[in-house]
Amino acid sequence: MPQGDGQEGQRVLFFFLILFFIYAQPAAPPPPVHGETKKYWDDERQRDFDVLANTTYGDFRPGHFLNLTAFREDDAHQWEVLPKVQDLSRKQVEESWRGLEDVGSYKDISGDVRGNFKRSTLSVTSSPLLNLTALDPRKEYIIDHFQRNITEPSGEITLSFTDDEAPKSSWDARPLSAEISIWSDSAPGTGWQTMLHGVHFPTGAAILTTSSTKFDALPALPHFALDVFSFIAAVPVMNDTVTEAWKRHRRRPETYDVGVPRCEMIVWLQPKPLEGSSTYLEMIEDELAHPQGAPIGTPPALSFSMVLFSPDCGYVLEADTLTGAKTEVFTQLTNRLLSAFAILLAVQITLIKRQMKKASTPSTRSRIAYQSIAIAALGDGLIMLGMVLLLSLNETSFMLIATVIFLAIIHMAVLEVKFVYDLWTVQVGEPQHAEAERERREAVQRRQAALQAQQQQQSTQAQAPEASKLQILLRQTCQVRHQALQEPFPKTTTHDYQLHHHYQQYQQPSRLLRHQRLFQLTLELHRYLPVLPTTNPAINTIIERHRLALLQVPTPPPRVTFATIYARFYFLLLLTLLFSLIATSFPRPLRSAYTNFLAFAYFSLWIPQIYRNVQRNCRKALSWEYVLGASACRLVGVLYWWVSGENRNLLGVKKGTTGAVVLGAWMAVQVLLLLGQGVFGGRCVAPKWLFREATPNEVADKTPKNKLGWFVLPRAWEYHPVLIESPPDAEQQDLESAGGEESALLGGGKSRMLNNSEMSVHLLASAGEAKLDDAGPSDVTNTGDASRKSKRTFDCAICMNEISIPTVVRDSSTTLSSHTQDTESGPTKGNNKAAPATATSRFGLPNLTMGLSLERSAYMVTPCRHVFHTACLEGWMDMRLVCPVCRESLPSL
Ligand SMILES: [Zn+2]
Ligand SMILES: [Zn+2]
Repeated sequence: MPQGDGQEGQRVLFFFLILFFIYAQPAAPPPPVHGETKKYWDDERQRDFDVLANTTYGDFRPGHFLNLTAFREDDAHQWEVLPKVQDLSRKQVEESWRGLEDVGSYKDISGDVRGNFKRSTLSVTSSPLLNLTALDPRKEYIIDHFQRNITEPSGEITLSFTDDEAPKSSWDARPLSAEISIWSDSAPGTGWQTMLHGVHFPTGAAILTTSSTKFDALPALPHFALDVFSFIAAVPVMNDTVTEAWKRHRRRPETYDVGVPRCEMIVWLQPKPLEGSSTYLEMIEDELAHPQGAPIGTPPALSFSMVLFSPDCGYVLEADTLTGAKTEVFTQLTNRLLSAFAILLAVQITLIKRQMKKASTPSTRSRIAYQSIAIAALGDGLIMLGMVLLLSLNETSFMLIATVIFLAIIHMAVLEVKFVYDLWTVQVGEPQHAEAERERREAVQRRQAALQAQQQQQSTQAQAPEASKLQILLRQTCQVRHQALQEPFPKTTTHDYQLHHHYQQYQQPSRLLRHQRLFQLTLELHRYLPVLPTTNPAINTIIERHRLALLQVPTPPPRVTFATIYARFYFLLLLTLLFSLIATSFPRPLRSAYTNFLAFAYFSLWIPQIYRNVQRNCRKALSWEYVLGASACRLVGVLYWWVSGENRNLLGVKKGTTGAVVLGAWMAVQVLLLLGQGVFGGRCVAPKWLFREATPNEVADKTPKNKLGWFVLPRAWEYHPVLIESPPDAEQQDLESAGGEESALLGGGKSRMLNNSEMSVHLLASAGEAKLDDAGPSDVTNTGDASRKSKRTFDCAICMNEISIPTVVRDSSTTLSSHTQDTESGPTKGNNKAAPATATSRFGLPNLTMGLSLERSAYMVTPCRHVFHTACLEGWMDMRLVCPVCRESLPSL
């Protein structure tokens, strides 16, 4: 079965995608290549401690080197830049602290800071020519191309501090570690990431550095200090850090990644003065660490200036401000955002549930574009998967994130996809299937009729010869039977006798001819004798094939099931996710373009709905509540990340108000178009230079191959025609009598799909009983048009109340002039005579000059010329698409 095969293929692909995900996880680091002995490491650490203990501040400077890896004279690092970089850092302190006194800084700087950097002019551009074998003898570098090298003039930088240890006294320096990420155009999607270790000084400043076998920086770190006091404060901290590192190493030997040299980094951080005295900041830190409910307001953000120097790659980066929230503040904010998101999701769930309830009949479902809901569901699905990723990163808000994911799954998987399925079955699945089924039945009937006709023809034409032939055949059979009695055939039936006989009888010189004749005879015989299966399966097969060839029945297409829709949807979602994951490793501009594209696609969700409204001339597909609510929730949910300036952007997308404004405006335009369609009719947004109405021939030609083009609109009934107070003229009489061909387009009844934006009030079903309240010439008259308004009162058959309908009284001169052409167009007034002339001139696209005025939107006229209140008939049409009075079928709204 083709359907089974297709699903099988999808399942296999799905399985491989999952396998890919599993194996795409980073593999465990390879085991160390060199087995280091305990003795070696003891010696190494002893050397480090000697350096720490026996050197004083200033021992390491250009021209003076330390006996450590990467700090020796022949290691070829760019140490001559170091004093200039230190000066730069000192200058940053001076600039930000000039003239300030008793301004505090945080003691615990756990948290994330982010900011832009620029490559300093101090950078040495020459490529590093390090003697790697001498620097790191235990490691083999397979390439000499350095990673983490920053060659771009600017980029973005993030530092995530981990500052757990409480200070022993106010004058103690403390160890600090941080994860640094640098984004430049050459960096991979997640940036150049690495761990830094160092000292956090009581002044708030910090020095951090990378450390590796190639760059044994921890013991030398105090020498990077900007003054002798910092040096003294840093030595005991580094003593501890080196001991810790040593212990760690002896427990578990260091694991190396493949031999790719990476640029090392030394980072100087200088605190920016924060608002508030040191006692105030101390109080804030106390409250954040051990909350007691003290009102602290919004704590000031962490703020640093930074200088980064790579001694081997030679680049120097400067950042004026790196800011971010302290971890506690960040967690609070995250929780608040997650709660807000949960509320947004709850609102969205309510909205879509209400919308689904409203669209519970096939009539209402057929108005909604399932593509719109599918786009929304895809976008929500991606956001949901993003939350799952967040869950794996953030442990502090586990319950909250889990709740949000639960709500998101209900919204997306249970409601939205179900809604898409509901719409799909009404619009695509069922009609397609019904159409195919109908075609199949028709084909069978056609073939059978043709076959019967053929047989009848043959039997009448060749009655005499055929009859004699039958006699011959039967006689031959008898002969065979007679012969068979004399020399019996072992274990065969009568039919085999017959076949055997024919085989014998027509023994031709050529075997091929004989066979052909045999089958021909068999078929002939079977036409007369209704005894089919012979005991010879080969012959049976051939006969059956001949029969089928005669009947040629198209096979029905596979039915689209719930499972198919689900499989397709999740396959698409997974594919998008996979591509998005791949896209994270794109260079920055491309990645940003991809993100913008996704956001734009997500925010174009109403476009299919607008297009469907235009195609079907439909006014109210989705409730306004849903359109406005769903748009607003999505705008708020997504745009927050573009406009939130202070906090870390979890998506890693560069913040920018331009993008937010563009997306917001784009969404607003779509919502306005939808609302406009709701008020002025579905086709009010279709410009005439782009869309045209289908010609009657195009409409009549319903073969599947001949579908209407994208910008060709099928004819639609105008439910709100302008009613004219004049006797039905020739054209409208035509319209009245235009039965047959046009009515077929609607699928039955006397419904007409001709252009009906204007209609004589006398054509209405109960026009005779309608009361005329002619307001007379004193009523408002349209300027420039020789017409005046009047009113008629009808009865609405649904609510049994009166409808007051405004009509237009037009002067006979204007009516005449507008119809002379038509009446003179010739005596051949066929059924569709009005079409060519009116298709272009007065086309079903709304005359914007006429518009759909508020007065006209109050009543509706059905193709069977019955008049109802708009609210009454719309409510009715949500349930059934037949006229409440005469049960004629109605075109959907
Ligand atoms: Zn009514
Ligand atoms: Zn009717």
